[in-house]
Amino acid sequence: MSIKYRDEIKNIEPYVPGKPIEDVKKEFNIEKVIKLASNENPLGCSPKVKEAIIKALDKLSIYPDGNNTELKKALAKKHNVEVDNVLPSSGLDEMIVLIAKTFIEKDDEVIMGDITFPRYLQATEIMGGRPVVVPLKNFSFDLDGILERITLRTKIIWICNPNNPTGTMITERDLIGFLDKVPSNILVVLDEAYKEYVTRQDYPHNSVEFINKYKNLLVMRTFSKAYGLAGLRVAYTIGDKEVLQYINRVRGPFNVNALAQVAAVAALEDEDFLKKTYDTNLQGKNYLYKEFDKLNLQYVPSETNHILVNVGRNGQEVFMEMQKRGVIIRPMAGNYIRVSIGTMEENRFFIENLKDVLNKGQ
Ligand SMILES: *Cc1c(COP(=O)(O)O)cnc(C)c1O
Repeated sequence: MSIKYRDEIKNIEPYVPGKPIEDVKKEFNIEKVIKLASNENPLGCSPKVKEAIIKALDKLSIYPDGNNTELKKALAKKHNVEVDNVLPSSGLDEMIVLIAKTFIEKDDEVIMGDITFPRYLQATEIMGGRPVVVPLKNFSFDLDGILERITLRTKIIWICNPNNPTGTMITERDLIGFLDKVPSNILVVLDEAYKEYVTRQDYPHNSVEFINKYKNLLVMRTFSKAYGLAGLRVAYTIGDKEVLQYINRVRGPFNVNALAQVAAVAALEDEDFLKKTYDTNLQGKNYLYKEFDKLNLQYVPSETNHILVNVGRNGQEVFMEMQKRGVIIRPMAGNYIRVSIGTMEENRFFIENLKDVLNKGQ
């Protein structure tokens, strides 16, 4: 007799992460390798974070604070909400699964975009929910298309704003119009992983305030991107107290580790680092736009730290060729790649090698 796996798990594809730098160095026997594949912060993290972690090293034998007291306090203060409106998690990856476990029953419908962050689909499938996939329009979320797909079975709608991997955003006006039309028994989850990079004024910069009006709204933020703490796994969600209390029942008792908690608190205190991150990203983005224009490559204007580019040649092939030259990017469907914006030095190295691969060198 063999072990029986849950049916829901059978067709799930495991996540394929960006390839680590060390693997590429070994495989192709090259010295210089840069990774522009996982939307990490090329500046690292705030020095204040490192100091906080060093101080916390003496307490590694002690369990973390399971209530995340200090982190919740700091986040409540930052967002001008109550402590019970905040729920930290071990990255948003964990929160996406916690939300799915809390709400999705078998055959519940869960609406998401295509293409968007792949974890919403996976979490839905794990729980036996039915994914309802609404194609993007002009690389942006089709909010009217989403509203049309709502049924009595709809449980959750995932909105990634700005969206990964297209970098496009929904305006405050459109978001409010949308929230007004979604029935209040359907949970709307706003994934704002890239919020800190947004340049446009018409973005819903104060979306956190909407939780007072829309009890069915959750707003997710992470320390993995602009704060540069992807390796520590820490993020948080803001929403109605009751909704968060239910999610809190499903959460593991010590889901956010001790170093992540102190690091996140320290990161919130360093606004200069965030500003530097924003400026570096904007400078890099403008440089890359200019170079893509010169190369006659189409790209999707981005409000994030990554750009979706049509390289006019199979993305997987370009990915392989770039890798040989020491540049790791993300292949996407068809002729698209997604490149994370790096330091100016990394951006130049990327462009140099892209020209070489596309035979567009001078
Ligand atoms: C990177 C990313 C996340 C995951 O963030 P973690 O907090 O590191 O788990 C969530 N959503 C989107 C859209 C992302 O791109």
